[in-house]
Amino acid sequence: MPAEPVSPQSESARPLRVLIIEDYDEDALLLRRHLGRAGFAVSSRQVQTADELHDALGSGAGGESAWDLVIADYTLPSFGARDALRILQGSGHDLPFIIVSGTIDEVSAVDAMRAGAHDYILKGHLERLLPAIERELADAGRRRERVATEFALRLAQQRFSATFNQAAVGMAHTSNDGHFLLVNQLLATMLGGTEKQLLNLHLQDFILASQRERNAADLETVLSGKSPGYRAELMLLRSTGETFPAQLTCSRLRHGTADADSTVLWVIEDISARKAAERETSELMTRLINSERLAAGGRMANTLAHEINNPLEALTNIFFILGTQEDLAPETRDLIEIGARELDRVGYITRSTLSFYRKVPGRTLDLHSLLEEVVQLFASRARQHNVDLVTVLGVDTRDIRFDPSLRQVFANIVGNALEAMESSGGRIVIRGHVRNDCAVVTIGDSGHGIPQENFASIFEPFFTTKGERGTGLGLWVTRGIIEEHGGTLQVRSATRGARRGTTMRVTLPAAAALTAVEGVFTENA
Ligand code: ADP
Ligand code: MG
Repeated sequence: MPAEPVSPQSESARPLRVLIIEDYDEDALLLRRHLGRAGFAVSSRQVQTADELHDALGSGAGGESAWDLVIADYTLPSFGARDALRILQGSGHDLPFIIVSGTIDEVSAVDAMRAGAHDYILKGHLERLLPAIERELADAGRRRERVATEFALRLAQQRFSATFNQAAVGMAHTSNDGHFLLVNQLLATMLGGTEKQLLNLHLQDFILASQRERNAADLETVLSGKSPGYRAELMLLRSTGETFPAQLTCSRLRHGTADADSTVLWVIEDISARKAAERETSELMTRLINSERLAAGGRMANTLAHEINNPLEALTNIFFILGTQEDLAPETRDLIEIGARELDRVGYITRSTLSFYRKVPGRTLDLHSLLEEVVQLFASRARQHNVDLVTVLGVDTRDIRFDPSLRQVFANIVGNALEAMESSGGRIVIRGHVRNDCAVVTIGDSGHGIPQENFASIFEPFFTTKGERGTGLGLWVTRGIIEEHGGTLQVRSATRGARRGTTMRVTLPAAAALTAVEGVFTENA
């Protein structure tokens, strides 16, 4: 039976959808009239059997009900109010259920109320019906509201815990003194423990001791209300003792008006990867700048070597011609000799530093030959100063090829070693081998060593401890060439004891052998 609309009394009539369980049509009609007169725009359906009731209620547990209210006669021939109640409760709809009966005794009424009916009214006292309906509708509205609020709350909680636990960053709530109250899975993993273990600990326990004070001071500005939050990069400790860089974002959560009613929310990110990338970028930048500087230096050196060599040769010739003059005063001859010697020195400096910058594109030399050539170069000078020049070269040094400009590198280092042993004699050992795709060459001497205070300066241009005899350019040029090949130069030195002497260790990536041909310096001098 479809809903039977009863024409509303006025435009302002309140709609009311009533399911009437009643076998007397007149009684049902009476009810509708009563409600209509009370100002309701009633739409209703009258049912008499369990099946009809099922049908009227529809399925849809949890869904919107088609009805606002159920009014039931207490005893129908086929089924009574108690059965109707059970069906209503089974349907999942929470509707006010009011019994309106001609005959209901006290005991049955109480029973029905116990079973879940909201009120009972005698047909003779219909004036009680309206207040009961108003009250029950309001109650049902409140119940629906509470259910909706609870549902919304549960949803919010679910969303929060999903967000919190599956966040791609570490998150925690702590008390104002840093005690963990809530920890997400990622943070637990990051700090190396279970969420439960962390709840017994303080965030401070995981901050590197030297940075705890700073963090406490930052936190204080937040707790005192001076700032709403802060972000800091700190070193954190894992429970394994390992440290890692992390970014901490902290903000205060207020739960009430009192100052004490707050907790602190932390978002913690492991930034090791970002830091590593930053470091790599900055290293790359430095290398770029260095190679640019080298390229500029190289070009300048080329030009200088060229510009200096020509006048130098002219001057050398002039001094030579002057020296061949007869009838020169001895003082003049001395001066000419000094002049010629100084000129020689200038020539030596240009040759040993500037001109060596020249690279011959496309030519490479195997490391073994390279080192042997250097040894040859110094052989007679070494003998002169009682210095043994020993090489220990792996066979693999024959297979790895480099730009010949590296000859300059080893010549400078061996030259320095010799100069450190000129007065004492001793031994220089040159070792070479290939390891992990890198050529490693160490040159160790037993000379006077480098005092600690000079360590920082030896690579600076023009730093020398050799007075007039030194240029201070050797190691500067040497390191420049090594870095240009992507390699490194390490120094170990002692001025006393059994290990007195200096060892220079040159590491060159094998890849440098391949890229060497793309020389940044051209030969045009
Ligand atoms: P130079 O040899 O012209 O002085 P370098 O740049 O080659 O310039 O070396 C700078 C300084 O480093 C030297 O003056 C010397 O004090 C120190 N040095 C370099 N190599 C050695 C070494 N093997 N033993 C001791 N001192 C060294
Ligand atoms: Mg030198």
